[in-house]
Amino acid sequence: MAPFPGSGLAKGLAVTLRTMTRKTVTEQYPDAQPELAPRTRGVIGLFEENCTVCMLCARECPDWCIYIDSHKETVPPAAPGGRERSRNVLDRFAIDFSLCMYCGICIEVCPFDALFWSPEFEYAETDIHELTHERDKLREWMWTVPAPPALDPAAEEPKEIAAARKSAEKLAAAARAESAEPPAAGAGSEGGNA
Ligand code: SF4
Ligand code: SF4
Repeated sequence: MAPFPGSGLAKGLAVTLRTMTRKTVTEQYPDAQPELAPRTRGVIGLFEENCTVCMLCARECPDWCIYIDSHKETVPPAAPGGRERSRNVLDRFAIDFSLCMYCGICIEVCPFDALFWSPEFEYAETDIHELTHERDKLREWMWTVPAPPALDPAAEEPKEIAAARKSAEKLAAAARAESAEPPAAGAGSEGGNA
């Protein structure tokens, strides 16, 4: 049976009316800031003091967009007669965010907790070269890294804390035993003879 004339128009208007009365899902960015998950992958911050220039992050990055330069420095021996040591000194650390695919591998593999996710995402540039963030800029992002989540109260105690607690308990027990010891024989005899 052929549809009666104007039924298509009526259907279209019904769809329009239904959509008009629904709650809008459009985010009015940048007038309204989006509500992001606390661990959003926005940009990467570098905590330079923790970086030992081990190069793991640069080697594992699938996009080869981490650039690290360093040189070696000789450190004098800690004690006389000891051996000199050498350490890596960071000269350049940069991430090209025009290539980065935000996989997070660099952050996962860093053995020294030197890289962190920040939820900041407003760093668009008109010049693509500006998307290579050098170490100073990567450090600045550290101020926007959220505090780590609280530890699970039911989690096993970290071994470092357990060891420190045991040492403190031993020291406290030794101090208690010392203060509870009776005075040594002969102590106070001087006063009695006088
Ligand atoms: S997030 Fe992934 S792509 Fe981006 S710098 Fe790290 S390892 Fe490379
Ligand atoms: S993996 Fe970590 S410590 Fe090693 S070079 Fe990268 S940021 Fe530095």
